[in-house]
Amino acid sequence: MDKFRANWLLEERAFSPLYINKYESIMAQGNGYMGLRASLEEDYTKTARGLYIGGLYNKADKTEIRELPNCPDITAFRIFLNGEEFNLLQGKPESYNRSLNLLNGELTRLITWKSSDGSSFSICTKRFVSLHDKRLIVHRVEITPLSGDSEIIVETGINGRMTNEGAQHFYEVEKKVINSRIMSYKARTYESETALHIQSVLSCDATQSFAAKRRQIYSTVKKTQPKGTAFVLTKKSYIACLPNGEIDEEKNVRQLSEYESIKYDELLALSKSKWDAYYKQAGISLKSSNPLDEQAVNFALYHLNIMCPNNPEYSIAAKGLTGEGYKGHVFWDTEVFLLPFYLYTAPERAKNLLIYRFNTLLKAKEASQAKGYSGALFPWESALTGEEETPEFAAINIKTGKQERVWAAEKEHHIVADIGYAVILYYKATDDEQFMRAMGLPLLIECAAFWVSRGALINGKYHILDVIGPDEYTEHVDDNAYTNYMARYVVESAVEYGRKYGYTADYDRFTDFIARLYVPEPNEAHVVPQDSTFLEKPVIDITAYKEAEIKQLILSDYTRHEVVNMQVLKQADVVMLIYMLPLLFDKETAENSFRYYEDKTVHDSSLSMSIHSIVAADFDLPLAYICFRKGAEIDLGNNPYSSSDGIHAASIGAIWLSLVMGFGGICDKGDTLRINPRMPTEFESLTFPFVYKKARMIISIANKTERSVTIENKSEKAIKLTVCSNLYIITPHTKLCVNLEGSA
Ligand code: BGC
Repeated sequence: MDKFRANWLLEERAFSPLYINKYESIMAQGNGYMGLRASLEEDYTKTARGLYIGGLYNKADKTEIRELPNCPDITAFRIFLNGEEFNLLQGKPESYNRSLNLLNGELTRLITWKSSDGSSFSICTKRFVSLHDKRLIVHRVEITPLSGDSEIIVETGINGRMTNEGAQHFYEVEKKVINSRIMSYKARTYESETALHIQSVLSCDATQSFAAKRRQIYSTVKKTQPKGTAFVLTKKSYIACLPNGEIDEEKNVRQLSEYESIKYDELLALSKSKWDAYYKQAGISLKSSNPLDEQAVNFALYHLNIMCPNNPEYSIAAKGLTGEGYKGHVFWDTEVFLLPFYLYTAPERAKNLLIYRFNTLLKAKEASQAKGYSGALFPWESALTGEEETPEFAAINIKTGKQERVWAAEKEHHIVADIGYAVILYYKATDDEQFMRAMGLPLLIECAAFWVSRGALINGKYHILDVIGPDEYTEHVDDNAYTNYMARYVVESAVEYGRKYGYTADYDRFTDFIARLYVPEPNEAHVVPQDSTFLEKPVIDITAYKEAEIKQLILSDYTRHEVVNMQVLKQADVVMLIYMLPLLFDKETAENSFRYYEDKTVHDSSLSMSIHSIVAADFDLPLAYICFRKGAEIDLGNNPYSSSDGIHAASIGAIWLSLVMGFGGICDKGDTLRINPRMPTEFESLTFPFVYKKARMIISIANKTERSVTIENKSEKAIKLTVCSNLYIITPHTKLCVNLEGSA
């Protein structure tokens, strides 16, 4: 296979209605400001078109959950060829290829289609969401009659009838045609009162006629096209959104009019130059015997760029801006699975994610107080304001028909430790004192204060009672290892940094909590107990569930209550802890715990596989590679349903984590940065950039005939780090090469 195609193109080589939603998600485009699902131009029953704007949330009515509204659509095109509407389920597709170019964000589809009357057409569609101007989407449709002169009619416009599975978020404000060319559609969300202004303008060699229907405005173009020549139609759309205030129509029209005169390719080149800059800063080069590994890396880098906001106003949803799964809510996924990538490639982006939490600190303090605790209780699911957005009930229990209660908001408090942990990670990697004083410490101290108040004093020891740890198949437990150790780490760090900067807090209480907090110690088999009762629960054979394509299959054989009372894990829990705080346990404890829990983990959450890969990299490289592959396949594998409602942002972040932290062997948890590569035999080399304490380095690991690591200091600052336990200082603009077989 051509190397470029294998690495940089995500391809759909044949059309299948079964995969419509999956491709809509994995080939989605965006720029952090907005996300556009890769829906086909023509309509299919299963199509779930979607355009989402970062931070634009709304509650459709008071009984609904706040979510990212599906904005009016601009991607649909009805194409009539000699009177027959083009659709791949009728006539005959003679060739089909769709590809997303991960290097420039362009989505291209090439089809040869034979209509029912036997006429052939070549159809090429292209589109991109600009990185140059975040509000611009450019779309091109080219139709070439192959068998004879043909009549072509195309209908496209702005469709305000979009809903989130039936929930309508906007009321229409106005629709009209401006200057006889520009279709303009204004709407406003019902609850959050956000104004949206979408404009589209078409250019083509044919006259247009405009029409408006309820919540729709569109244009029809008609042309008789000579055989062998292309009818080209370009549609440029400008999506402006204003949380409070009035739309500046004149400004938006002026802006779109400027773009109207610029060619598709020139606008694409402007956007591509931003993509080039991004890959220069964050790009990874991996040589693997499996080309899918290289594609997975590029896929991850692509999505990590398009999901990231460009400001601290909002944060990254569990599905980015690629679908309606989890309603566009922000989880611990962001701080734990995504933030490290930004931190070590473009620290400002990581800082924005933390500022978002800082901006919601007041709400978190109110939530904590309301429950009788101190400090800040961050919501399990967050939207814009930092209120708790987790739904109270989930799907029905198929056995009882009753709605299942969702306990995460009430009990999954580890998010408070995760946010504190991310603050420490950021500070250690950047030495950003200004941020620490202004926002980092207030966040950290309030997280710590929450834990201190959350502890229950029983017989002289603090216990953290009735929680859910990362493993959501185990609920209402006491002293979850992940929660307790992470809480202790956050309180210890709050004391250390709070005192260092003279920040006022009740440090005596904090240190008393640290001294008396009960933490589950490894048992005689050197396994860390997940909580106070886990190891006493019955064990079942979960092989069938582990191997099943369908996620959460176990819940159709057992009630949730039954699952909660067995040694079955949905996702990494103690293993997650070993990943987060790798210096906590000795190697034997880490390995034994890993093996014990891996056997009992179904990996029913996309947050699990890659973490098992990273932890396994220390002692079982074949297994680490297997877990890495499975993690990469969550979105890229053959399962047609796995990504229907959006990509899995955390697992995408974890592809990067697996490479850099797992196989690259970077450990940022101690006082000095450590590099201890452990590459699987499949990898020949791995090169990635890494920014640490304002110094940028390029780390290259060779793993073929020679095994070595080269660290190139690209900055003006000296870099201190250890490679395989030896301490080195790399002076500015020099390289260090360490032979991994032993000699330096
Ligand atoms: C996982 C959580 C995760 C959430 C959003 C759930 O299935 O159990 O850990 O935060 O999905 O990705």
